[in-house]
Amino acid sequence: MLTLYCATTNAGKLREFLHAAEELAPDFFRIEPLPGLKQIAPPDETGHTFEQNAIQKAVYYSQFTTELMFAEDSGLEVDALDGAPGVHSARFSGEDATGEKNNRLLLRRLQGVPQRTARYVCTIALVERGRVIGTFRGAVEGEILDVERGQNGFGYDPMFYCPAFQCTFGEATTEQKLEVSHRGEATRKMLRFLKERAP
Ligand code: IMP
Repeated sequence: MLTLYCATTNAGKLREFLHAAEELAPDFFRIEPLPGLKQIAPPDETGHTFEQNAIQKAVYYSQFTTELMFAEDSGLEVDALDGAPGVHSARFSGEDATGEKNNRLLLRRLQGVPQRTARYVCTIALVERGRVIGTFRGAVEGEILDVERGQNGFGYDPMFYCPAFQCTFGEATTEQKLEVSHRGEATRKMLRFLKERAP
């Protein structure tokens, strides 16, 4: 059984990664939070792309383990906002941002705007002893509603309408979200890579 450390302090993301490992290949790999993660000061995120930020985080956190590990960067790109909040999704509403404040701001920015198309993007960077051995990208298209629906998921999920399920990610189950989500796709790509690499 392969143990992969995950360097994310976001509880919603971690929950989805643990779930993905259990669902996709329970006998092959297990995901665990990087030991001691809460005591490690977070790195700067200065990249302009999800990939740059994922690599920055993964290389930084890999100083703290000799094991195989990954970090991810993700966010929401709204077409009517020229791709914002993008890499700034977590801090969209400022330094003291919360999921709730971010959602309220997004609703305000899109008030009366007819074009509602958006996508979630996720890039995972897999690192071993400071060396990047792969990056894996996933994306899912959807629309931003003008109300919040559902309590599942995290972040922008109650406003993100998924045409495949005809409901928001806030209403979808974790299993459903994983089937089509940016994080599900990126995790499946990483898993395929790891299986091909296995002796
Ligand atoms: P990061 O920690 O800099 O990668 O921030 C990612 C941010 O993007 C999160 O804090 C959320 O605001 C948003 N985000 C990314 N993936 C999701 C998702 O699956 N659901 C809801 N919000 C997400």
